[in-house]
Amino acid sequence: MRPTGKLHLGHYFGVIKNWVELQEEHEAFFMVADWHALTTGYRRVEEIPNHTQDMLIDWLALGIDPSKSTLFLQSKVKEHAELFLIFSMITPKSWLEWNPTYKDTKYNLLRLTDLSLTFRGGLRDHVKTFLARLPYKVEDFEALEELLLDYLSDAMIQALFEGYLEKSLLQELNVSKRDFYDTDTYGFLGYPVLQAVDILIYKAQAVPVGEDQLPHVELSREIARRFNGLYGETFPEPQAMLTQTPRLPGTDGRKMSKSYDNAIYFADSPEQVEKKVMSFFTDPQKLRRGDPGRPEICPVFFYHRLFGPQENAQEIEGDCRSGRLGCVDCKRLMLEKLQGFLAPFRERRESVAKDRDALLQVVSSGTEKARAVALQTVQEVRQKLGVG
Ligand code: SF4
Repeated sequence: MRPTGKLHLGHYFGVIKNWVELQEEHEAFFMVADWHALTTGYRRVEEIPNHTQDMLIDWLALGIDPSKSTLFLQSKVKEHAELFLIFSMITPKSWLEWNPTYKDTKYNLLRLTDLSLTFRGGLRDHVKTFLARLPYKVEDFEALEELLLDYLSDAMIQALFEGYLEKSLLQELNVSKRDFYDTDTYGFLGYPVLQAVDILIYKAQAVPVGEDQLPHVELSREIARRFNGLYGETFPEPQAMLTQTPRLPGTDGRKMSKSYDNAIYFADSPEQVEKKVMSFFTDPQKLRRGDPGRPEICPVFFYHRLFGPQENAQEIEGDCRSGRLGCVDCKRLMLEKLQGFLAPFRERRESVAKDRDALLQVVSSGTEKARAVALQTVQEVRQKLGVG
């Protein structure tokens, strides 16, 4: 998991809950992918250490148990970098260019360039007028004009992403903030190779992934096959362990995500949770108690169903449809369930966060364990290649 900071409900129900179950039956390795964080976040490296720490605190609070699993930091196991270099030599570029994430991002970048050009077109006249009105002489008029246009179109795009311009424009353009950070890099093209390393260096049998990650596991299998074909049987082909990742709605009804600013975090105080729940999006056609509602489109009802019990959810469904139940009361009922669910995690989080030494100890012993396995694989690879 890339270190994106504190975890929210979407992370728990989408990933962590499954990890907690898996560690009971499998020898599990859970990695903080801090090198991967550079792929799109290389301009904001100062965030990585804090995000790593926050995420580890949540992992432990949510039930990842270091006595059952190995927790480690990718960047502390340098063997990942060595194997990445070797895999890069044998991975055809076309395999990476077909990666759907890469293709999507490329497409969005083209749209962004388009957008930038449109902005520039629209701004040109304004810049000309502005320059013509300057009360002093400009030596190189055209150079200054170009400079301003470059700067302003960038500033406009930034303003769009920072929320100073209409959000609907962003949706209409179907571009995300992520695309804004320069992803037209060698590292971005090659990140699935590093992912293959993350899996194969531990000779993993299986990788728990959501459907969107299937192409990456397939690529790892292809790289394993290619390596084995060239240098002899070394890597097992990992299987994708497909997990259902329910799409949790955030406070605005869209998918819960940090970048949409609509998430409920395990680190949130009860007051913050209350404020967020009371501001939840509901059925816009239900304006007051008495109006019939449509629970199937309401994120509040999603959580009633999630937290159960099912008989209660059915009752709420009926009361919403008939109009007997108002949204404020319905949110209060859901809030009660949510607070009850969050309370034990919050308590554990606080106690884990207090003992930073113990946290460091967990990571350093996990990293040591991971490193021993990775080193063994890399030594085998060096021997097969006769290099290194
Ligand atoms: S009553 Fe509850 S389920 Fe129905 S629209 Fe309002 S918040 Fe949603």
